[in-house]
Amino acid sequence: MAVHRIADLSRTLLLRSARPFSTSSSLQSDIGLNFELNEVQRDLQQLARKIAREEVAPNAPKYDASMEYPWEIIKKIWHLGILNPLVPEKYGGPELGCVGACIISEEISWGCSGVLTAAFGNSLASSPVLAGGNEEQKKKYLGRLIEEPIVAAYCVTEPGAGSDVSGLKTRAEKKGDEWILNGQKMWITGAGKASWFFVLARTDPNPKTPTGKAFTGFLVDADTPGVTVGRKEINMGQRCSDTRGITFEDVRVPKENVLGTEGIGFKLAMASFDKTRPPVAAGAVGLSQRALDEATKYALERKTFGTQIINHQAVAFMLADMAIGTEVSRQIMLRAAWEIDQGRRNTYYASIAKAIAAETAAKSAADAVQIFGGNGFNTEYPVEKLMRDSKIFQIYEGTTQIQKMIISREIVGRLKSSGL
Ligand SMILES: Cc1cc2nc3c(=O)[nH]c(=O)nc-3n(C[C@H](O)[C@H](O)[C@H](O)COP(=O)(O)OP(=O)(O)OC[C@H]3O[C@@H](n4cnc5c(N)ncnc54)[C@H](O)[C@@H]3O)c2cc1C
Repeated sequence: MAVHRIADLSRTLLLRSARPFSTSSSLQSDIGLNFELNEVQRDLQQLARKIAREEVAPNAPKYDASMEYPWEIIKKIWHLGILNPLVPEKYGGPELGCVGACIISEEISWGCSGVLTAAFGNSLASSPVLAGGNEEQKKKYLGRLIEEPIVAAYCVTEPGAGSDVSGLKTRAEKKGDEWILNGQKMWITGAGKASWFFVLARTDPNPKTPTGKAFTGFLVDADTPGVTVGRKEINMGQRCSDTRGITFEDVRVPKENVLGTEGIGFKLAMASFDKTRPPVAAGAVGLSQRALDEATKYALERKTFGTQIINHQAVAFMLADMAIGTEVSRQIMLRAAWEIDQGRRNTYYASIAKAIAAETAAKSAADAVQIFGGNGFNTEYPVEKLMRDSKIFQIYEGTTQIQKMIISREIVGRLKSSGL
């Protein structure tokens, strides 16, 4: 705030404190924050909540057991127009912004976070296109996501490099008007179902080249010769989501499919997380809320020592802790999303939201199992799935440890720029 505005505010406040019983208009409305969703956001929440409660949650155990890809539900989400919330209207999308994406994510994840991951891998794949694609690329690749219910995948992680993205080995070499791609990716969400991939590859072999200039992003059609998708990985949780490795062997990519320009791929891949970490945090919040809802219901039904278990303070306090974590995570997740929708850099908030929401989801799900006792350990009850599903939030989209590295770097940057 400019110095003169602080002085003006200060004068106004002094005048008001001299007239304590004044009934003139309150400063609260000028200063106040608004924690309410607007009408459109509430409608969006209801839309997502309806499909989450009516389609996603009832089918979640079936998809968990069969590990079948939830195509039917993904198609329904697409038909509602909310599968690709970040795609701008200009390219046919709903342009719901990051807050809109978070509202949808939380609701779908309440129903099943595996379905969420399967469906919203699209946002992760489209974010680098939004960040660095030219008009043709945006029209073509984002447009395809809007025209039909298809999925896309974000291919960065490799068997030897996950957190340390700068260590990835996939190479792309320029030959005439094409790039030749060779390498292996691992743990790619939607790999076996995707129509196109965002692929990050090293294009400058010189190990001394700074990371920010050594990598390039490519848009690769899944049916390009030389692309081989591996077997579906059998994961601990979110088992309906399709996770696989992909091998690229002499894959020829036209130069038109270089995302942005050569050498900026690392920046595009990392910048994407500012838009996608808040919705991932929202997914963790949805799971945490589900754990709280299930555990509260159970605690009101189950009796021990002649009373409902909610009357035992140890149980009630576990529920209270779940509520505290869920509410706090929701607020910071929305803050992170709101910051980027305002056009502001949100890296700090996005990492805080991802870290706390992931840790909260894992704790809430484990506590829900505890509250269910022996039943909690059994597949007939919903909470063991929540516990298995929750773990991945601490790992993908940057582990909790990596979020803390980012947050600590941001703290230092903020302190230095504050002049303290
Ligand atoms: C189900 C699933 C879906 C995924 N989907 C995708 C996808 O769609 N696209 C994609 O590109 N990737 C995807 N990933 C990969 C995911 O992002 C990585 O697994 C994750 O970033 C961690 O990398 P890593 O597995 O190589 O672990 P590592 O980087 O080997 O880390 C191992 C451990 O060391 C810790 N660690 C590493 N470095 C540090 C450090 N400097 N300081 C402190 N601790 C550190 C980590 O926090 C972790 O606990 C997915 C993974 C899974 C399991």
